[in-house]
Amino acid sequence: MHGALSSLSARTTASGILTIDLAAVGRNYATLRDRLAPTVAGAVLKANAYGLGADRIAPALYAHGCRDFFAAHLDEALALRTIVAGDARLFVLNGLIPGAEGQCAAADIVPVLNSLDQITRWSDQACAEGRDLPAILQLDTGMSRLGLSESEVRILANEPGLLAGVRVLFLMSHLASADEPDNAQNPAQLATLRRLAKSLPPAELCFANSGGIFLGAAYHGALARPGVALYGGAPASGVANPMTPVVRLDVRVIQTRTVPEGTRVGYGGVHVTTAERRLATIACGYADGFPRHLSDRGAVYFGAVRLPVIGRVSMDSTTIDISALPDGDLAPGSLVEVIGPHQPLESIAADAGTISYEILTRLGHRYHRDYC
Ligand SMILES: *Cc1c(COP(=O)(O)O)cnc(C)c1O
Repeated sequence: MHGALSSLSARTTASGILTIDLAAVGRNYATLRDRLAPTVAGAVLKANAYGLGADRIAPALYAHGCRDFFAAHLDEALALRTIVAGDARLFVLNGLIPGAEGQCAAADIVPVLNSLDQITRWSDQACAEGRDLPAILQLDTGMSRLGLSESEVRILANEPGLLAGVRVLFLMSHLASADEPDNAQNPAQLATLRRLAKSLPPAELCFANSGGIFLGAAYHGALARPGVALYGGAPASGVANPMTPVVRLDVRVIQTRTVPEGTRVGYGGVHVTTAERRLATIACGYADGFPRHLSDRGAVYFGAVRLPVIGRVSMDSTTIDISALPDGDLAPGSLVEVIGPHQPLESIAADAGTISYEILTRLGHRYHRDYC
């Protein structure tokens, strides 16, 4: 009763309604899991599950059988420890922070070791505790971001004692161009990973992100790390998105007005109307993650009708042209679609000159969040 009342009031008072479809996350997980089998499907929950709320997404994925969760930072993994059951494996992609070895081991969190220094510190921790500690070793196969370089792999190959006490669960690498199926960097990275892995004690591979899953079984390894595809983002560019949409965003109209030809709209007065227009100001701006880059080029929707953004996006509001709608269709309090069936995540990202990942992770905290 209380829940129904508070969501009713949120529907009338919030600046916008962000609907996050947990069942769709589950469906996307099942789609990836089926495509990957017998490879195990993990899930990447960094950045608060790409902005959607790790506290809600992690249990939903766990309920669908996911037991391998990747965070970017130790703090994120420690938070996940309190959310999912103890049989979940938690990995930290960005590696082992100096000084955090004891905390990491105590919370049963598996670091991705990205350098010889990290390997040494984890090995020292294992020796100090008198037990083996699990880890993933990341090898840099061409992204130059994280992971052991070729020369570090050579040192490790010649001195396997550096891994004393470290139980290597997987050898991992990350694809730089997985969203482009025809990019020659993909097979090159796969070949490099296989070559480097051969020089190290045998271990299973952990390679594919969302895009990698769609490059074929050769890229799957033993454990995959999808992120954006779980949240409805397209795993590959240039083809139809096979994932189910997860996010819908509707934003409230604050005010409407009719202005004559020659009227300046918004900061800088850069937009000048060329005819009489009907305008609406809506309750989202760049502080809510509505990109300022959509100034005078993006749009929102009312039903199937496209309502273009007019003038610059402000911090807390944006002005749209509603002249295409019959007078009276929109009034203060009405909702317009910012992300949804008429404007999928990928299209608003493309209009803003960015990627779905950035739109998701910047979704604002002033919207009412409805999980369904
Ligand atoms: C973010 C990330 C992923 C997930 O990538 P998606 O493209 O979102 O599937 C996987 N692995 C690593 C190392 C990452 O940083």
